[in-house]
Amino acid sequence: MKIGELLKRDIFSISFEFFPPKDEKGERQLFETIKKLEKLKPTFVSVTYGAGGSTRDRTRNVVKRIHEETDLTVMAHLTCIAHTKEELIEILQDYKNIGIENILALRGDVPRDKPDWRPPEGACKYAKELVLLIRENFGAYFSVGVASYPEGHPESPNLEWEVKYFKEKVEAGADFSITQMFFVNDYYYEFVELCQKAGINIPIIPGIMPITNFKQIKKFAALCGATIPQSLIEKMEKVEDKPEEIKKIGIEFAINQCLDLIEHGVPGLHFYTLNKSDATLRIYEAIKDALPRPSLPAL
Ligand SMILES: Cc1cc2nc3c(=O)[nH]c(=O)nc-3n(C[C@H](O)[C@H](O)[C@H](O)COP(=O)(O)OP(=O)(O)OC[C@H]3O[C@@H](n4cnc5c(N)ncnc54)[C@H](O)[C@@H]3O)c2cc1C
Repeated sequence: MKIGELLKRDIFSISFEFFPPKDEKGERQLFETIKKLEKLKPTFVSVTYGAGGSTRDRTRNVVKRIHEETDLTVMAHLTCIAHTKEELIEILQDYKNIGIENILALRGDVPRDKPDWRPPEGACKYAKELVLLIRENFGAYFSVGVASYPEGHPESPNLEWEVKYFKEKVEAGADFSITQMFFVNDYYYEFVELCQKAGINIPIIPGIMPITNFKQIKKFAALCGATIPQSLIEKMEKVEDKPEEIKKIGIEFAINQCLDLIEHGVPGLHFYTLNKSDATLRIYEAIKDALPRPSLPAL
């Protein structure tokens, strides 16, 4: 199933993001998580791609297993910055051969710990070039998603810049977008409005990160420039040493965030699961009655 096509039908997209585990134990845990989340009948699930191509085989194998062993529609993330165009075409051809129809086309990041790292000769500099490469070599075979950043990508000097280059990715052939995590919905609403004014009309699905580990999320959020509201920081700091309390506050916050997004008519919700099912299941349970439409089209 092509996600772009699914999103055009009258559904409310629910999706879950996983990362490829490092070892067999992690993979067993991931597939237990998938088994639990599959019951929620998500529109699709996605599997991340390690920076610099470090998880090339692991991402491919997890994507293949999900495709073969479950009824889920699966999307493979692919970053372009560390691959030659030939390598990218090889990876995409392999996905086509095994029946994968959805790609999240990303640039990826220069490895922070390798100051001498240089991209290979002729590599794509931006995600837009990967979108173009997919369209030039595979036509409409793949449904292509791209990333977007309601608070601006850390490299973007302002939101106008952000929207300008986001629009280029859309014009290159992206069907939909998933946002970076954010915790202040107004940033998302303002970003969507700017995009609409700029003539961008693909679905922009909000990315939801339930906070279950405060220290870890503070680090992630600082890296990607996501603002955590001061009131939430203060609430969490009071119970910093009580993981169960942190989780409870984080889940409660995500439930309210999702309910507000649903009320504002978002096209779906994409959950960063960190390969765990508990928080996502609890949030889903609390919001399921507010979901406006089914997450899969009627047969
Ligand atoms: C939903 C989601 C999933 C992700 N999954 C992964 C993953 O699986 N693996 C991973 O490694 N990373 C992942 N990332 C992180 C992503 O790789 C980084 O945020 C990366 O820094 C940017 O990728 P991009 O595709 O948004 O890049 P781009 O769209 O290329 O944008 C990067 C920056 O360059 C600017 N820009 C674009 N075009 C131009 C131009 N022509 N001239 C000047 N500036 C330009 C943009 O405004 C932006 O500031 C994900 C991010 C999101 C939001």
